[in-house]
Amino acid sequence: MKTAHLAFKDGVRLRAACFAPHMVRLLTVLLSVAPDTRDGCMVVTEAWRKPRHPDDAHTWCNAFDIRSRNVIHEGSLEPAMLAWASRAKASLDSPDWQIVVHGEGPGLHMHAEFDPR
Ligand SMILES: [Zn+2]
Repeated sequence: MKTAHLAFKDGVRLRAACFAPHMVRLLTVLLSVAPDTRDGCMVVTEAWRKPRHPDDAHTWCNAFDIRSRNVIHEGSLEPAMLAWASRAKASLDSPDWQIVVHGEGPGLHMHAEFDPR
């Protein structure tokens, strides 16, 4: 199914800063280059959170995590997620963005972060 909707996993915490213009742009770009999904949704699984380490961009609302397990893919899932990240990076076209795919098995996800340092 074409991925046309943005959804948030139950329990995801959003602060006003999560809707800063650059973060809305990030979500818009990620959705616009998303692969097809089984439910047609790009699902944010983490936004704001308490710091897990001293440099946790989620804490200052500069990062979103995106679900992988609903992504339709041939072969293994990780290359499909890496291709998605690559399309997003090309569209954002700035070194201020870090988009990585990490985690294993059902925890595999895309972490997309604004880091202008
Ligand atoms: Zn993350």
